[in-house]
Amino acid sequence: MEIKIIPCLNDNYSYLIFNKNKKIACVVDPSEAKPIIDVIEKNKIDLKYILNTHHHYDHVGGNKELKEKYNSKIVGFKYDKDRIPEIDITVEDNQIWKNENFEIKIYHIPGHTSGHIAFHFFKEKKIFTGDTLFSLGCGKIFEGTYEQMFNSLNKIKKLPKDTQIYCGHEYTLQNGNFCLANDASNLKLRKKITKVKKKLQNNLPSIPTILADEIECNIFLKAKNLESFSKLRDLKDNF
Ligand code: ZN
Ligand code: FE
Repeated sequence: MEIKIIPCLNDNYSYLIFNKNKKIACVVDPSEAKPIIDVIEKNKIDLKYILNTHHHYDHVGGNKELKEKYNSKIVGFKYDKDRIPEIDITVEDNQIWKNENFEIKIYHIPGHTSGHIAFHFFKEKKIFTGDTLFSLGCGKIFEGTYEQMFNSLNKIKKLPKDTQIYCGHEYTLQNGNFCLANDASNLKLRKKITKVKKKLQNNLPSIPTILADEIECNIFLKAKNLESFSKLRDLKDNF
């Protein structure tokens, strides 16, 4: 399985996923169509599915144009079917959705939005977490409760430690600065931030990140209980 990381808009990432024959490709969260089309055309990829983690514009903005151009099918959460543009296939919590190439487990992880889901390619140990778990951070709570977000992060935390995490935005450095401000003695965190800076300086994404690193460095995953998680989330909103 190959993944092309496609920067979109200001700081979004869309992910184009395909195997050797390039025939049954999926794209996760196409913020806009143009950068995706460029990669598809250059690599002669057949875009069969569009996977949406949630309904926000910066994650579904390219749906319509890509669907029209490539006749792709759009996959999204059952209870968000009225707000995911052009949705064709609905999925639900804990379902394993298969296509010709990939088997993907769906997790409902509310908090950022009420219908947010993650796509877990469990055989390949890769998960697409949208705006719920970021590298060194987590999403803002727009529609859900602190408790929902806390539980959603804990769900992801239980996956195998070598799971690779692909999130919706390049927020890693800002997130890292917040972690550092609240966890100054964490040497693993300092090392991770140094690595991230190097990547960004070379114009490379800091993504994917590894779950093991996040558990040690991401202050939101380190929160021991709902109360301390909620405090951190409030602090971050004003950081
Ligand atoms: Zn969002
Ligand atoms: Fe977003």
